[in-house]
Amino acid sequence: MQRDHEIVIVGGGMVGAALAARLGYAGVNVGLVERGATPTEPSGDFDLRISSLNARSLDFIEASGTQIPASRSCSFRHIEGWNQQGRGHSVFSAADSGLDRFGVFVENRALQYALWQRLHTLPGVTCYTRCAPLSTVASSHSRMLELDNGKTLNAALVVGADGARSTLRELAGIEIGTYDYRQRALITNVETELPQQDVSWQCFTPTGPQAMLPLPGHRASLIWYDRDTTTRAREMLSDEALARAIEAAFPQRLGRILRVTGRASFPIKRQHAKRYIGKRLALIGDAAHVVHPLAGQGLNIGLHDADTLADTILARRDAGEHPALLRFELQRRLANQAMIAATDGFHHLFTGAKPLRQLGDCGLSVAEHLPAAKRMMSRQANGLNPFAKR
Ligand SMILES: Cc1cc2nc3c(=O)[nH]c(=O)nc-3n(C[C@H](O)[C@H](O)[C@H](O)COP(=O)(O)OP(=O)(O)OC[C@H]3O[C@@H](n4cnc5c(N)ncnc54)[C@H](O)[C@@H]3O)c2cc1C
Repeated sequence: MQRDHEIVIVGGGMVGAALAARLGYAGVNVGLVERGATPTEPSGDFDLRISSLNARSLDFIEASGTQIPASRSCSFRHIEGWNQQGRGHSVFSAADSGLDRFGVFVENRALQYALWQRLHTLPGVTCYTRCAPLSTVASSHSRMLELDNGKTLNAALVVGADGARSTLRELAGIEIGTYDYRQRALITNVETELPQQDVSWQCFTPTGPQAMLPLPGHRASLIWYDRDTTTRAREMLSDEALARAIEAAFPQRLGRILRVTGRASFPIKRQHAKRYIGKRLALIGDAAHVVHPLAGQGLNIGLHDADTLADTILARRDAGEHPALLRFELQRRLANQAMIAATDGFHHLFTGAKPLRQLGDCGLSVAEHLPAAKRMMSRQANGLNPFAKR
């Protein structure tokens, strides 16, 4: 059967669009199926969905010729973590790891828009918007996708990048394991009196972390994890009352909040697909895994999936070949499982019983006093080889 595209990607979020851009830039014929409309250029106040991009993610995105929008992103050079009730305190600096910055915080919709702008310049990429898959069947040479706009597409490989509630995963009969952390995160965008754009910090409290993600200018995104009912009650406060509640509860270094520009809350869950691959099918990004956001790594590991899958596809004539997909799965499952274990560990160390919290303290102090271990940890968090000199 004739193929419409070499690769069809379902989901044009940041992960799916980044894979399409990388493959399209390398000359691969790609179809991108997105349920929503073509993204439009963001303006005005920052959206609440902000993500950090580490060094490997930035390299992957820039390798497709996509520019990270400077006006809606903020580079940071230091990461600090400490325990509100204990003595553990650790500061990681990019320079100590041979990097000029740790990464960039970027507005999700600005990154998605930049990627789509790039896709529109790549002749091998066709975007199908406002449509979604209804059914899918694989043969030995291709996989067919029936869309809800009456179209069918055939490709050597169909990739599911359609997020945590992936339709493609469901159509392929791939099960997921889930875990509820019984926490809810209140995300608040604020304007602060103090400038603090060089550093991202996180203060661990027994009910969950309080995190500050810098944005350009005197702006920041704050994440406040707590019990479900407490978070919902805070979310209902007026802007003025919420600003004062943040000033009272957050570390003093945050200083005065001048304005609250947005808020929303999310339940914190983890999710992991039992398989990442099927016949001529692969899952990447949140379709394959959702991790606790406390380490800011969910998007990063999704982009690392896309990076590994792009290498797999570009290295062979038949992109949907099973042994190659198996290698992709093995490589990514190991890395993602390690990230899930690390974020779980952080969660339990800092919100668990007192002895566990003391162990967490101890971990922060040890990290602070062992420069080599610190350097390896921060390179690992950046998706880089922890043993390399640069
Ligand atoms: C509070 C919070 C803070 C976070 N902070 C960070 C951070 O600092 N750093 C970080 O790395 N990660 C962070 N994350 C995680 C990060 O936001 C996600 O991992 C990332 O958005 C996943 O991207 P994705 O492209 O895989 O999925 P999504 O962003 O969900 O995109 C999926 C796309 O598929 C489309 N779609 C869905 N269903 C269909 C369908 N049936 N057919 C066609 N298209 C479909 C959607 O419209 C969407 O465009 C955070 C998450 C939370 C909740």
